[in-house]
Amino acid sequence: MLQNENIKYKTLDVVIVGAGFAGMYMLYKLRQLNLDVEILERASDVGGTWYWNRYPGARCDIESIEYSYSFSEELQQDWVWSNRYSDQSEILSYAGHVADRFDLRKDINFDTSVKSAKYNSDLKKWEIITNCNKKYFANFCIMATGTLSSIKEPDFNGLNKFEGDWYVTGRWPHDGVDLKGKNVAIIGTGSSAVQSIPVIAEEAKKLTVFQRTPNYSIPANNRPLSKDEIIKSKSNYSKIREKARYTRAGVGYNQYPEKKILDLTEDERIEELNKRWGIGGQEVFLSGFTDVGSEQEANDFAAEFVRLKIREIVKDPRTAEILTPQNTIGCKRLCADTNYFETYNRENVELIDINSSPITTITQEGLSTSEKNYNFDIIIFATGFDAMTGALLSIDITGKDNIKLSNKWKDGPRSYLGLCIQGFPNFFTITGPGSPSVLTNMMVAIEQHVEWIYECIKKLNISNKKEIEPAISAENNWMDHVEEVASNTLRYSCNSWYVGANVPGKKRVFMPYIGGQDVYRKKCKDISNNDYEGFIIN
Ligand code: NAP
Repeated sequence: MLQNENIKYKTLDVVIVGAGFAGMYMLYKLRQLNLDVEILERASDVGGTWYWNRYPGARCDIESIEYSYSFSEELQQDWVWSNRYSDQSEILSYAGHVADRFDLRKDINFDTSVKSAKYNSDLKKWEIITNCNKKYFANFCIMATGTLSSIKEPDFNGLNKFEGDWYVTGRWPHDGVDLKGKNVAIIGTGSSAVQSIPVIAEEAKKLTVFQRTPNYSIPANNRPLSKDEIIKSKSNYSKIREKARYTRAGVGYNQYPEKKILDLTEDERIEELNKRWGIGGQEVFLSGFTDVGSEQEANDFAAEFVRLKIREIVKDPRTAEILTPQNTIGCKRLCADTNYFETYNRENVELIDINSSPITTITQEGLSTSEKNYNFDIIIFATGFDAMTGALLSIDITGKDNIKLSNKWKDGPRSYLGLCIQGFPNFFTITGPGSPSVLTNMMVAIEQHVEWIYECIKKLNISNKKEIEPAISAENNWMDHVEEVASNTLRYSCNSWYVGANVPGKKRVFMPYIGGQDVYRKKCKDISNNDYEGFIIN
């Protein structure tokens, strides 16, 4: 390593940014090519989203059996999940176990944020500068920065005056927060809030929920996994994994038979929906119906079913009405909960509709709406993320000819396959915008991308090629395809984070690829088999 004034330099083959599940597996794979690889990670340990999202009730909504790596038979046989849906601490322990098992930490630089990454076309290397005044030169730069990792910072008038404590669910204190006996407010009713509200309500003296848009939620029906289930899944693991790779949503375990709601009689529809409500989980409820995402009539039926359930569960009719969504079901991500709607029957929980009485300011003592002043000890912001592009654009990324990624993406993200970006050679985005990512089991999406990138770098090295980037025509065609597929679905038109509608000023673009993990996987394979069709390789 060269020392030059305050900046230290290091030359590597590959820099990976992020030590969540994507970065860890990428490091593991690239070691097989005997490359010099290191990860730069802003947190103090591995785990990515599960490192930061420690809010009460944080849990995965993909079943544990499948929300795990498939690449190591020994790992999947040894690790035993305790519940149908794992909680944050168990998933974080798993990430730590993987890091230990494969000795990954020795190549991870923790507490290291990447400030900028710039492609040097003469050297054909990325120059990556960190907050530790270190500059890395690398042939390849791989962004494993996650899709929901850039918090939408609370932007509420008067927040700096608040004399109590405030927290963001996506950056929860590692030592926890003592809510006992406290008067707590939570703003937001998305997945994070739906999971945390029932747990906070149990602990706090009083919980006031400030809701802008009600959300559909399905019971998770979480429970401990039985010995039998564990034995059965382990003995069938290779089949479960293979099936998952070739389904739309990347799930192969407990898959519920696909049906069309509109093919059923009204009684059969209700029976079927009740059965699925009983089994629980958003996958079973929604993805098993092939027409709910595309046919308004089918969607209306499923939506009305959930509305009736909410009205059945929530005792106070006015509260039930405020909690009842009127929009398309599944348009925003469907939540899976444990006692969410039931929690509004508690005496210590109050729901405020901020559409009818908007929050005007945060005050020294709490907050004011247009109707009333409230006092709180703690305010919790469950207000979401700058999804899919936020983490990438928070880094100053410059491609060849001084193109800034922020400039290239000013009208929304553009990429080829959500994997590579024209003008940014030797730069890969794991589960980037334009790939299925958040619309599938992230573990399946991550493994598919990591393996594709691994094969690509291997091929370049074997053929002594130095540079790969997509042709502009391939990128444009892919973006047209991503848009076309999305525009045929009911998800396209609603104001979700999938289209960036939750971030003021963000260009409205449907960011993930909705064509399915199965279809996408095949496309990626065809492209690499066809000599990396659409890529320019030098
Ligand atoms: P989110 O779904 O974007 O929800 C944010 C909530 O905050 C929404 O209710 C939103 O209302 C509200 N909000 C945002 N800005 C506001 C403002 N200025 N004033 C008042 N309300 C405001 O964020 P999230 O709950 O963190 O979830 C994000 C995604 O992370 C999920 O969709 C899911 O993919 C993932 N996640 C998964 C799990 C899991 O695996 N179970 C758990 C948590 C999160 P509007 O709807 O009106 O904008």
